[in-house]
Amino acid sequence: MKEQIIYNLKQVHQRIEEACKIYGRDVNDVRLLLATKTVPAEKISLAIEAGETLMGENKMQELRDKDAVLRQLNIERHFIGHLQTNKVKDVLKYVTCIQSLDRISLAQELDKQLQKEGRNLDVFIQVNTSFEESKFGLAPSEVIAFIKEIKQYKALKIKGLMTIGLLDVEKEKMRPSLRLLREIRDEIYAENIEGISHLELSMGMSQDLELAIAEGSNMVRVGTSIFGNRFLGKEIWNENIAE
Ligand SMILES: *Cc1c(COP(=O)(O)O)cnc(C)c1O
Repeated sequence: MKEQIIYNLKQVHQRIEEACKIYGRDVNDVRLLLATKTVPAEKISLAIEAGETLMGENKMQELRDKDAVLRQLNIERHFIGHLQTNKVKDVLKYVTCIQSLDRISLAQELDKQLQKEGRNLDVFIQVNTSFEESKFGLAPSEVIAFIKEIKQYKALKIKGLMTIGLLDVEKEKMRPSLRLLREIRDEIYAENIEGISHLELSMGMSQDLELAIAEGSNMVRVGTSIFGNRFLGKEIWNENIAE
């Protein structure tokens, strides 16, 4: 298992490097986040031993279950799944960044809890750029107003935008939803909102990481290509499946 993970990681890093070369990107501007849903802590540890420094979980339960092993390792943990407001306090025990900020009520609750704890938190705003009903995230047209509104929540440090692109067997069908995230960022820049000068793009997964890099991704979130298939079927992309 260890050899397999090391091999897979090498392949993924090669894909990232190759894409950076082709699309004229600096490889230092693209981080790899291990998407570790359903992956046991022991298996994640192997990737950390191999040099990885960043991971993302989708569920509170998994954060909690894997914590005993992972907290001893030098790994930055993000939350990348849909976050229910009543789980905010729990999730904050484990992560330094939430990539799925998608509504005012969540921003408010996060800020309230963070103020209580006297700390800040990095956040990415999740945008639904594929217009699929099964996906969470703000509609693209809502993002600018949303940023202006959440600026009042001082404990939230807006790091960037996150999307789950449209997945399709045809590569060119996937690209528009990735490009759209970059365009939204450019529109935000054009607004000259005070305090918002640099935004990262978190996009690209096993299937579409090259295209995401082509469109400006700063963080690709990869699970399957490193840890293998979770299970067959499309259900995993329905974020509405209950925890
Ligand atoms: C599962 C997941 C990924 C990784 O997807 P793979 O296709 O397994 O690489 C990335 N981002 C989010 C939000 C996910 O839930």
